[in-house]
Amino acid sequence: MLLVALLLATQPNMDQATLRKMAARFAPTEVTADLRALPDGERAALAKIVRAARLMDAIYLRQAWAGNGQLLLDLAQDSSPLGRARLQLFLIDKGPWSNLDHDAPFIPGVPPRPEAANFYPPGATKEEMEKWQKSLSGAERDAATGFFTVIRRGPDGAFTIVPYSIEYQPELGEAARFLREAARRTQQPTLKRFLETRAAAFFTNDYYQSDVAWMELDASIEATIGPYEVYTDNWFNQKAAYESFIGIRDEGETAKLQKLSAELQGIEDALPIDPKLRNPKLGALAPIRVVDEIFCSGDANHGVQTAAYNLPNDERIARERGTKRVMLKNVQQAKFSKVLLPIGQVALSSNDRGRVSFEAFFTHILMHELMHGLGPHQASGGATVRQAMQEAGSALEEAKADISGLFALQRLVDKGVLDKSLEGTMYVTFLASAFRSIRFGTSEAHGKGVALQLNTLLDEGAVRVAPDGTFAVVPEKAKAAVAKLTGDIMTLQASGDAGKARQLLERMGIVRPEVQRVLDKLQNVPVDINPIFKSVEAR
Ligand code: ZN
Repeated sequence: MLLVALLLATQPNMDQATLRKMAARFAPTEVTADLRALPDGERAALAKIVRAARLMDAIYLRQAWAGNGQLLLDLAQDSSPLGRARLQLFLIDKGPWSNLDHDAPFIPGVPPRPEAANFYPPGATKEEMEKWQKSLSGAERDAATGFFTVIRRGPDGAFTIVPYSIEYQPELGEAARFLREAARRTQQPTLKRFLETRAAAFFTNDYYQSDVAWMELDASIEATIGPYEVYTDNWFNQKAAYESFIGIRDEGETAKLQKLSAELQGIEDALPIDPKLRNPKLGALAPIRVVDEIFCSGDANHGVQTAAYNLPNDERIARERGTKRVMLKNVQQAKFSKVLLPIGQVALSSNDRGRVSFEAFFTHILMHELMHGLGPHQASGGATVRQAMQEAGSALEEAKADISGLFALQRLVDKGVLDKSLEGTMYVTFLASAFRSIRFGTSEAHGKGVALQLNTLLDEGAVRVAPDGTFAVVPEKAKAAVAKLTGDIMTLQASGDAGKARQLLERMGIVRPEVQRVLDKLQNVPVDINPIFKSVEAR
């Protein structure tokens, strides 16, 4: 990654070979699901939903940058090898800036990525916009700063609020028509309701009812389509970008999830912490869906692919009903085969390499999600752990979910709930995945939390480094080290001592030289996948 970043800095006019090398960091991978179990009516509904979902690409391109549409047309007409290479990378990044290289431009003549994207008028400054928004009051101010409006200039040059339903009317009108056709074909009431209310929202610009319907959606087809995340708006994180994730429920994993959920109170009661810190009665679980993705578009399909998401972002719904988590199993599977297995080949000892397993990888991801709900959430002094830990909180909470996830899996193996063979695969799989996480950097919470775990396991002797630089699990020490770290993190969280948490992360949330030496050897391993949606291609 570093090499390419250097090239970008010194050579904005990139040749074909460089562009191809950048694109190769995303391994083309079929992402597909078995649709044979779906009745004809549902399959017909699905085809219509995918047609609506395709329209999110056009809206998102326009939201990200006003120049994207014209540039895409120009690139599509350039049949030279250099033109093809540019188009390939443009389609991966959904624009002329490389997501993996801090948004450096890779096509000559384009401006730096606009922080305001295309949500605010060209030429306006952030300060002007802020001042204008502050001058408004009541409903007008809410609309100006809301998720679902853009700001333009009126004929008199003054700022004016334009709802998404007007700004993106052509695409949204067509998408609504497809969603309604799908609603007529499905026999599943909760899906029908989501499709109808979301189609209505595309006209009314009010997404509340359809977000509620999405929370209640419980069907073989899991459809997420609309304006959601606000990260494209780098001025204020106010404006939502359009995207879609269309998935098919994975019945086997849904059953497994149920089985794991039934064990949670028993795991809480056995947590390696002071019994007073255990929760005698766990609350209701937020809904989790496990699906196989068959299509995604817009904001959901550029750069590194999403493997799980939590929605909606509307705080009213989060407060009233919580949020729903959707996990994309086949996307995880694709990342596992194209990235994690090759990393294991480089990072692990020859003895451990062969035991990296997708079953262990995915079961641990499920357990990670569930474990966020366990352990202390109340810190001493009355604040929640989240409030008390401040900016150190996320890394610690992610590390907690990871390491206590291993603790929980070990316990379920010991209890006979999960197969004994998992013991032989889960620790080495976790070790391989640690390198994948740290490779993305330790500046964000997850990477830092993983570094803390890996370094602790090294210090406890549960992981050792061979003279050839490869890493290996020391099975007889793994179980105790995992339990100890689980207890240490949870006890620290319960103490609410942010200073101590900060110190721990500063000392342990770092890339040590022996880890860096492995990362340096991963140059040719892809960073992520470039999905090819086989099951919807022919439609
Ligand atoms: Zn997590």
